[in-house]
Amino acid sequence: MPPPAAAPDVKPPVQLVPPSTEGNPFAGARFYVDPTFVARVESTVKGSPANAALLKKVEAFPTAIWIDSIKAVGSVAKALDDAAAQQKKEGAPVVTVFTVYDLPERDCSAAASSGELSVANGGERRYRSEFIDPIAAAFKAHPKQRIVAIVEPDSLPNVATNLNVPKCAAAEQVYRHSVAYAVQSLSLPNASVYLDAAHAGWLGWSKNRASIAKIFSEVLAEAGGPDKIRGFATNVSNYDTLTPGDIPKLDASDPATDELTYVRILDEALTEAGIVGRAFIIDTSRNGRAGIRTKSSSWCNVKGAGLGERPRAAPTPFVDAYYWIKPPGDADGGSDPGAPGFDDSCGPGSPDSEQGAPRAGAWFEKYFIELAKNANPPL
Ligand code: BGC
Repeated sequence: MPPPAAAPDVKPPVQLVPPSTEGNPFAGARFYVDPTFVARVESTVKGSPANAALLKKVEAFPTAIWIDSIKAVGSVAKALDDAAAQQKKEGAPVVTVFTVYDLPERDCSAAASSGELSVANGGERRYRSEFIDPIAAAFKAHPKQRIVAIVEPDSLPNVATNLNVPKCAAAEQVYRHSVAYAVQSLSLPNASVYLDAAHAGWLGWSKNRASIAKIFSEVLAEAGGPDKIRGFATNVSNYDTLTPGDIPKLDASDPATDELTYVRILDEALTEAGIVGRAFIIDTSRNGRAGIRTKSSSWCNVKGAGLGERPRAAPTPFVDAYYWIKPPGDADGGSDPGAPGFDDSCGPGSPDSEQGAPRAGAWFEKYFIELAKNANPPL
């Protein structure tokens, strides 16, 4: 008798659950435009008359407001007051987007964005009482405002893949508990929380997706469950295109060929880990052009980048918005080895990085002009 035929080794497809449309905070809303961004663009417009008409067009677009220090917390209430006035004047909802970014031992696998808080200086306690609590209080004080909070770019992705870096290994528990606290505190009736989920060129591989999905499920359990968040933000401050661009050439083994593919297959891993029906925001501030880097992990002021899709709600199923989370023109890190804020990945040794860059978050005029000129779709 022949042996019984082996059962085909095919996993049943994962059934994805679409997020609720009524839960999308961007739908039917105007997006708050940050006056600080407008002022930065204006300063460049003044000094660059030849490009003025083109650059001025960028002013009209909304960007996320980065709360990247305890000092910056004051700008939350200020922006929400301003958005409330706009909302009243226009009689339509205005949504304001904040990136919450001041974790103890921040940016553990790089040097460009290390922050003010550390475990040694009582950072875990201060993160809660001096950073997250007052942000939550400002959100609560504006119950009629729609608010989006993007929580801690790169933090849990570093836990997923970079525990070989001593600073990341030492920070793992602080990252997990602090992110859980942020999610739990900022998840409010008027505020939608999105956790950072890196990007296709970082966590696209199935092993990495399984790893981050497990970490998310553990951290969300500590925070009160997956329903505390609306979803995940991807491509924050990164350059991956929405449809297949350079990843297939740079990383042939990466099944996530682009961000739209990434969010779909990440959703499969999340669903398998019990995180079901979540939505995505994709940062499109600088992903207009493919083929500009020698490796998909290049993250610092990548030369030749262009503005990507303009911010808009519900561009495609499962995606709540394309949004400019990284304000285009803000530097990723400094390129001058002798200046503060220098990171090797940004310096003369990095063939992909534009030189002449100031420290992370500071205005990089030349880069802003380049992003506008390379915009795709064009401005
Ligand atoms: C910096 C932050 C800044 C943000 C937005 C990050 O790389 O570390 O300070 O607010 O970029 O530009």
